[in-house]
Amino acid sequence: MKILVTGTAGFIGFHVARTLLARGADVVGFDVVNAYYDPSLKERRLELLAEASRAPESGSFTFIRANLADQAAVNSAFAAHRFDRAIHLAAQAGVRHSLTHPHDYVQSNIVAFTNILEACRHNDTPHLTYASTSSVYGANTAMPFSEHVGVDHPLQFYAATKRANELMAHAYSHLFRLPTTGLRFFTVYGPWGRPDMALFLFTKAILAGEPIKLFNHGHHTRDFTYVEDIAEGVIRASDSIAEPNPDWSSDRPDPATSNAPFRIFNIGNNQPVRLMEYVAALEEALGRTAQVELLPLQPGDVPDTFADVSRLERAVGYKPATPVNEGVSRFVAWYRDYYGV
Ligand code: NAD
Repeated sequence: MKILVTGTAGFIGFHVARTLLARGADVVGFDVVNAYYDPSLKERRLELLAEASRAPESGSFTFIRANLADQAAVNSAFAAHRFDRAIHLAAQAGVRHSLTHPHDYVQSNIVAFTNILEACRHNDTPHLTYASTSSVYGANTAMPFSEHVGVDHPLQFYAATKRANELMAHAYSHLFRLPTTGLRFFTVYGPWGRPDMALFLFTKAILAGEPIKLFNHGHHTRDFTYVEDIAEGVIRASDSIAEPNPDWSSDRPDPATSNAPFRIFNIGNNQPVRLMEYVAALEEALGRTAQVELLPLQPGDVPDTFADVSRLERAVGYKPATPVNEGVSRFVAWYRDYYGV
């Protein structure tokens, strides 16, 4: 089994690739290793994947350092390898950055995704699984968020590009019978986590004796999902080739689209946690008290997220298993070890 994993130097791509290697799959990684956050963390993840691939039972790891917005680079990767699956996790992530840097999202989320779709189509890749986000639900969506509801009111450009990916995948599934599966991730956290995300920022600030900023006066709730649960769900979804999905179009019946081999799933924890509880779990894991600065809701912020994961559970047996306090303490153990603090 040879699997393309884009975004391999990134947080989730690293965990997915590491799990696949341990299960004996051959992984071809693809990442530009950009400087959105500390590239040395990305380089270290890549070194670990190379090391992991030298274990006796491991699959092989090949790495392509290139930009997915470069169509020739994407085509040459598909010409050099015949992929049994493509798992596309590279993107310009981050809600706040999208308020000031929209072009990064056009290049890495729209142009790059077009190149992936085209390459999968022309090389008959059996299944494309790609990352979407809970941000597509915006605000004022009934909870828990279900895949059946319409999601055409993104609150920021990041969500708009991810929703665009879902629509682009739909067109390719429908027109070219390309099986695609979009996974809407809900605030992923854990070891090797992203330095721009709350858990990392809070940990760094608390250890430095600096205040942490809680937007929306700390009233956010988030369906924080542990990264190894996510990796398991991504791999299960990728391994199950998309079947016709009759219930997708139930909110807008269209016989032409309802047979497309096209799927969208939430992949969350189904247990929303108040931001204050998340901070309390972190304080306990660190053995320190946070100084808290309460700030108003920021532009583009979604106040609450809560995933209904029953569709993914029915399809592939996905069951998130890691409680937040356990996941947070695993993150803290990794952070202390990695940064020697
Ligand atoms: P990440 O930033 O750690 O990883 C993304 C990787 O993609 C980076 O290593 C980056 O160098 C690479 N990349 C970006 N643009 C590229 C390009 N043009 N060509 C090649 N490589 C490129 O982010 P992550 O947290 O691992 O997120 C993975 C996916 O999940 C993304 O699609 C993200 O939007 C989505 N997502 C993540 C979360 C979360 O909580 N982490 C939540 C919702 C959705």
